[in-house]
Amino acid sequence: MTNTSHIINMFGEDNAEYFNAIAPPIIQTSNFRFKNIDQLRKAIKNEKESFVYSRGNNPTLIILSKKLAALEGAEDTLLFASGMAAISNAILSNINNGEHIICVNKPYSWTSHLLKNLLPRFGVEHTFIDGTDLENFNKARQKNTRIIYLESPNSWTFEMQDLSAVAQFAKKHKITTIIDNSYSSPINQQPIKHGIDIVVHSATKYIGGHSDTVAGVLCSNKAMIEKVFNNEYMTFGGIIAPFNAWLLLRGLRTLPLRMERHAKTAQTMVTFLEKHPKVIKVFYPYSESFPQFNLAKKQMKQGGGLLSILLNTKDVKKIETFCNALKHFQLAVSWGGYESLVFPVCTFVDDERFSELPINLVRLYAGLEDEQLLINDLTQALKKI
Ligand SMILES: *Cc1c(COP(=O)(O)O)cnc(C)c1O
Repeated sequence: MTNTSHIINMFGEDNAEYFNAIAPPIIQTSNFRFKNIDQLRKAIKNEKESFVYSRGNNPTLIILSKKLAALEGAEDTLLFASGMAAISNAILSNINNGEHIICVNKPYSWTSHLLKNLLPRFGVEHTFIDGTDLENFNKARQKNTRIIYLESPNSWTFEMQDLSAVAQFAKKHKITTIIDNSYSSPINQQPIKHGIDIVVHSATKYIGGHSDTVAGVLCSNKAMIEKVFNNEYMTFGGIIAPFNAWLLLRGLRTLPLRMERHAKTAQTMVTFLEKHPKVIKVFYPYSESFPQFNLAKKQMKQGGGLLSILLNTKDVKKIETFCNALKHFQLAVSWGGYESLVFPVCTFVDDERFSELPINLVRLYAGLEDEQLLINDLTQALKKI
């Protein structure tokens, strides 16, 4: 296996092509020129492997996609303008009118919107299931099921699926498996090694890692990547810009270090919060108290920076007081950057997308700050309720 440090640094790069620069280049161009018609003709015939036009292929993107494929243990990777572009391309490429998708409960909100509101317009049905029990996949399977969509863990309450078992079940029934691996990043979990067909990421989160880029990744085998490239990728045009791809290349250089630090700080927060009298329950997949801790240990290297807590009050005013009192956890959506964040379910009082989650659930994101600063902040804010 190729060493992670080697992948992040030299792998997929040919520095002699760009003046031996240590940092990869940003090739900010829309198109590429050719010496003669013969060359142009050959390139257009194989846009995936040639540089013709940057909606298809670009040298900065190629460097990044080689590294990401290697980190995920995939044959190839496509890069997108957002995680949702990667997710919608992955799903649309593998489903037709009259077919059916099995999806785990509580996927990312806009993934849920895609299944519930957009795909039915094209005759695609879905069933949401509790993916913690393999038997539920079997119960939900129909003759026309073509996709099993996983998110393990999900990003609010962290339910997981046994990836090897689901992959085995899906292969038996010729169903394509897709997983949203954003929570773990390729450092903590590599689903393709468990037999999953397609891995998607919101690279906006850990891969970018600096809260300054929206981006997406789709990893799979060569045949699948070619199919997506020649259809959805080229027609929907949800491509990442070279500069944003370069920001991800920069983010990759510290990804393993950052993941280690997020895991350590989150663990310290979990230990503190589990003992706190104003917290009823802590949700963190790598905590011994988590019902699927053994599965987490089996398929994930370590936990991430996200965790959730149930406060011991359902009084929205008090929950707001706690969130507003935090000084170093900033009130914001998303996660994966330097900054610690807080995002409470009570933001969505009249939003059916979050109606399944308890009102007193508050999501915290352990950033890269000094952990004592964060513990002190939680201590003072919990005192206010
Ligand atoms: C943010 C997020 C997405 C969507 O990614 P974008 O880059 O915002 O389009 C998908 N899945 C999960 C789990 C996310 O957190």
